[in-house]
Amino acid sequence: MSLLAASSPGTTRFRARGPKDIDEIASRYGLPGEVGETVRLVSKVLPFRVNDYVLANLVDWDRVPDDPMFQLFFPQRGMLTETDEKLLRSVYHEGASPAEIKAAVADIHARMNPHPSGQMQLNVPSQDGEDLPGMQHKYRETVLYFPGSGQTCHAYCTYCFRWAQFVGDADLRFAAPGPDRLVAYLAHHPEVSDVLVTGGDPMIMSTERMRAHLEPILAVESVRTIRIGTKSVAYWPQRFVSDADADDLLRLIEQVVASGRTMAIMAHYSHPVELSTEIAQRALSRIRATGAVVYCQAPLVAHVNDDAQVWARLWRAELAAGAVPYYMFVARDTGPHEYFKVPLARMAEIFRAGYQTLPGLARTVRGPVLSTRPGKVVVDGVEETPQGRFLQLRFLQARDVSIVGRPFRARYSDTAAWLDELELDAATPADIAAAVRGAAQ
Ligand code: SF4
Repeated sequence: MSLLAASSPGTTRFRARGPKDIDEIASRYGLPGEVGETVRLVSKVLPFRVNDYVLANLVDWDRVPDDPMFQLFFPQRGMLTETDEKLLRSVYHEGASPAEIKAAVADIHARMNPHPSGQMQLNVPSQDGEDLPGMQHKYRETVLYFPGSGQTCHAYCTYCFRWAQFVGDADLRFAAPGPDRLVAYLAHHPEVSDVLVTGGDPMIMSTERMRAHLEPILAVESVRTIRIGTKSVAYWPQRFVSDADADDLLRLIEQVVASGRTMAIMAHYSHPVELSTEIAQRALSRIRATGAVVYCQAPLVAHVNDDAQVWARLWRAELAAGAVPYYMFVARDTGPHEYFKVPLARMAEIFRAGYQTLPGLARTVRGPVLSTRPGKVVVDGVEETPQGRFLQLRFLQARDVSIVGRPFRARYSDTAAWLDELELDAATPADIAAAVRGAAQ
């Protein structure tokens, strides 16, 4: 029986469970010994966090280890290279010192491309000659803001491209202590109309803390949209329903809407099961009642949602809940990417097959989309020509706006999983080709 079903509304408090709880989880849910052992080992390198709601309501324990939610939460064999897994086993089982273990883990992290798309170097804004921590300014009108106290999540996704935020290495982490420098920066940049508050998951913060970050932003007249990136709607919907400050949070969202801003909850749903519980549905309807708009996005990854039917069900469930299907992303080249990657051509096929089944109102979704160094590129499909097959591509967003919306193409490949693995058509306009080459550097 669900642990939450046994609780009275309002009494279920969030409690994170991590590596120290693996034995208890294994015995509670009957995790096979070998699977538990792998989880224990790989979680030394990759972040592992769950909570009782996701364990009791989202994972189908009869389908472990293939269950998509189990794959989403629990580190698996194959997420590290064979060499790294061997290295890890040897340092743990052959009595290495804590310093040696730490060094081995740091080495593995460094090989996992902790900050893809050059965001550590390219997107950090500066003011008066100083870099501004906890912010990114990649596209003209949008600033990303990483509040320091919102840099964890209610559970961690094994495919997370921000995994480096969670591994306890300050050099790998973005975080702003407070909004003062953001507000000063925005005052000098009236072209910024959108602030995306992101993490981690900002909804991990108490409402009081969230208010301390949001209210100063509302004082900046040129900011017209506040977006909050969150997976709490899937991993801890109690945040909007029964947490002690859930009602205050909804009042805060209403306050943003009442200020004349667009309040967008950028909801991350990876699989339709996340929308299947009653409390997940209630969370969405309570958010919508505030006047906020909910946009939905997730990456397509192997082992979790590489199936057109899964996406079609997900998009329909989002639409039925009054939310807007928005993006299907390509998983970034970071962390356990080899485990999750799906060739672009196959992703385009999955997208098309799911999209074709949708009613018109759900066709707001775009994908598959790559977030690359120069911008967001959508794979529009496959083109058959007398010269051969091509993948049709287009920038949806870019640092250089002049390349947005102009179609280009690359030779068809059934293995390429990222832009730099594609061979551009020789007729690609020079500015687009230069931007794409920049993506590969
Ligand atoms: S919720 Fe988002 S930030 Fe948190 S682990 Fe998942 S993908 Fe990463």
